[in-house]
Amino acid sequence: MLELEESAVKLGSNVSTKEEAIFEVGKILVDGGYIQEKYIESILGREEVANTYLGNGICIPHGLQENRNLILKTGIAVLQVPAGVEWKENEKATLIVAIAAKTDEHIQILAQLTNLLSDEKEAKKLSKTKNINDILKALNSEKKEVNEKKEEFETKETLTFPGYAGFHARPASAFVDVANGYKSEVRLNFEEKSANGKSIASILKLGLTGGSSFSISTKGEDEKQALKALCKAVRDGLKEGADENIQKAVSKRNYLGNKLEGVPAAPGMAIGPVVILNEDEIQLKKEGQDAHSEREKLRKALEKAIFELNQWLHQKHEKVDKKRMDIFIAHLGLLKDPELQNKALKAIEDNISASYTWWQIISKEIEELSSLSDTRLSQRANDMKDIGKRVLKHLDPQAIKSTKIQLKIPSILVSLDMTPSETSQLDKSKVLALVTAKGGSTSHTAILARSMGIPSIAGVGEEVLNISSKQAIADGDSGILVYEPQTKDLDLAEQLQKEAQGQKEAEYKARFKPAVTLDKHRVEVVANIANADAALEAINEGAEGVGLVRTEFLFLERNSAPNENEQFQAYKKMVQHMNGLPLIIRTLDIGGDKEVPYLNLPKEDNPFLGIRGIRLCLQNIELFKEQLRAIYQASKYGPIKIMFPMVGLLEEFRQGAKIAEEVRLELGVEPIDIGMMIEVPSAVIMAEHFAKEVDFFSIGTNDLTQYVLSMDRGHQGLAKQADALHPAVLNMIKMTCDVAKKHGKMVGVCGNLAANPLAAKILTGLGVDELSVTATAVANIKETIRTSSFKQCQELAEKALVQETAAAVRALGE
Ligand code: PEP
Ligand code: MG
Repeated sequence: MLELEESAVKLGSNVSTKEEAIFEVGKILVDGGYIQEKYIESILGREEVANTYLGNGICIPHGLQENRNLILKTGIAVLQVPAGVEWKENEKATLIVAIAAKTDEHIQILAQLTNLLSDEKEAKKLSKTKNINDILKALNSEKKEVNEKKEEFETKETLTFPGYAGFHARPASAFVDVANGYKSEVRLNFEEKSANGKSIASILKLGLTGGSSFSISTKGEDEKQALKALCKAVRDGLKEGADENIQKAVSKRNYLGNKLEGVPAAPGMAIGPVVILNEDEIQLKKEGQDAHSEREKLRKALEKAIFELNQWLHQKHEKVDKKRMDIFIAHLGLLKDPELQNKALKAIEDNISASYTWWQIISKEIEELSSLSDTRLSQRANDMKDIGKRVLKHLDPQAIKSTKIQLKIPSILVSLDMTPSETSQLDKSKVLALVTAKGGSTSHTAILARSMGIPSIAGVGEEVLNISSKQAIADGDSGILVYEPQTKDLDLAEQLQKEAQGQKEAEYKARFKPAVTLDKHRVEVVANIANADAALEAINEGAEGVGLVRTEFLFLERNSAPNENEQFQAYKKMVQHMNGLPLIIRTLDIGGDKEVPYLNLPKEDNPFLGIRGIRLCLQNIELFKEQLRAIYQASKYGPIKIMFPMVGLLEEFRQGAKIAEEVRLELGVEPIDIGMMIEVPSAVIMAEHFAKEVDFFSIGTNDLTQYVLSMDRGHQGLAKQADALHPAVLNMIKMTCDVAKKHGKMVGVCGNLAANPLAAKILTGLGVDELSVTATAVANIKETIRTSSFKQCQELAEKALVQETAAAVRALGE
């Protein structure tokens, strides 16, 4: 919710003209980081076409629609001119409320203004007041305390929460995402509790368990549509697939030594020394500056924590599986939660540090969540602690006294509990197993351990922190920690370890065998990478080359672009690691969901439809040429191909290829293949023309799906529907393959779809020559192809193309 900040109010101005007033109030917006200075001109421009005087001495200057790109963040500023300044013939303005609105968040303030317009006395009082709080109170709506009173709007529906899992962090984050797509207020009511439907923290505290009845109610101009969409999202399962993959216990194994029983959290067996990890200590400095400065500190820390997590998500989006990503996407939602943010900002008092107040608020949230009776929901307390620490780290780097131990030898790690971030940072080569006193199989820590392949036991009880034993067995399959194992126990554990290892090894051993179907059709299986180390890893995992280098990752998490030499060194190292295998380097694909702050690109209203990919390079020729020079120089060291991203128009490809040729001639190096990604529908429709000019196609199903289905690829509420196995997408792929075959051009798929075994078969059947997947999926995809026949794949593809829905296509794999 938009809040008028204390620092954005100026009392007692004595400006004498409208222009002066606009400059003064505009400056407040500039200083507050809401707008670029140029936006002030736009505010003046608006007054020329329409007067913004509302009545009762109140006016609302704001810029022209087309200059919204000059707004950095939505906000408002108030200038009080007690003597008034002429705004309109015979009308003097005393309260000048300047608005910088990127979206519609300012509506709430406007609603408050409407109240003032009908209350002449109050408006007069505000025009003279010397107390900023009067203005803040009048324009900031009263915040409702979460869960405090049961409020329900008239437009409502009662429904049952599907599944058994309840409203925990990931579904709550998906729900808030849908709710934020509407202007209406949203409330959820469950038993005697009520929550703001646009706040994850608020929803979590409802303690709503699976199968419970609750109501959603909405109020606002689009209340009906909002209610319909929210009910549908809940009924569709809010991103909770049927594949929750809860760790199932095998029957308890009969160990003879001393043991502690918990719940199996991640499968696998470990034998090794035990290392007990103490909890981080939090030491806070209570003393602070005035409330205003402390609030600023908290705002900045929140911004930094959000930026840092966002960066991590961008960087990992290829390497990390979806479950792991979803956990941290939910954390991002918690960090951005307006209810939580406002609660902390409001609680800050003079002379008390922001870090102290923030941790108090977080501790209270943790306490409330921990007391929920549903274990899945109470385990969210750990997520709250995680985001709490993330922010605290920026507020006061000394506050967290880490007790982290550098593990010297591979060990079984024992701790009270671990936050998802801590788990995610564990060094897999040193942690044989993870055992926690608290937690359960549904905690995010457990989900992470499963995704990282670390055997894990949760909820063994706090006595585990006192064991003193040199060696232990952590049996993640049955949830038992044997801390004083007898010889027989060790024999059993070793035997089980060997069996599991054998299966894994068989698949891994075959990773260098080509992917040839039973009826001798060959498909190349290559990898997607982002840096030189990953090239080596890909080859070790059995990749037959690299089908996509996402070069934009060389540009992230730094303050300036890598120069030509730095890029050349990176590409050279990659191609040298390839040992003669092909390497497709994609030119910079920035824009859309991949932001690079130091390039100072203008804000886009629709980033996915704006200046991104090849378009961006064609507008920044020097940046483009620098990269092309680095690629051509590196091509002397091994087989490299160039690929342009996001090509939608023939002119774009031609212009890109022309610049590449100029660069090549300047350097006097040999020509190399230039291909393009197929990720825009126009490229598919025009493939016949493109095929005459390109050397190869590579289909980017991640973007192609979002553009064909018109669904933002990062939209949580649409994650289920934005399915690359939708027949519309598959038909687009078929069109591309047919054209490529006709012109004798190679066609690959480098979107995430290629790593799905069912999709790999369908794509093979459609005629795709190359599947480019994340390195860890190479062995599995190769095995999938080797155990299928091309004829079967073709039949499967034919069936998939004529299905009505993505679900029907998926059902073909069952
Ligand atoms: C794609 O869009 O499928 C693709 C491979 O590119 P990226 O995910 O990097 O946009
Ligand atoms: Mg793409």
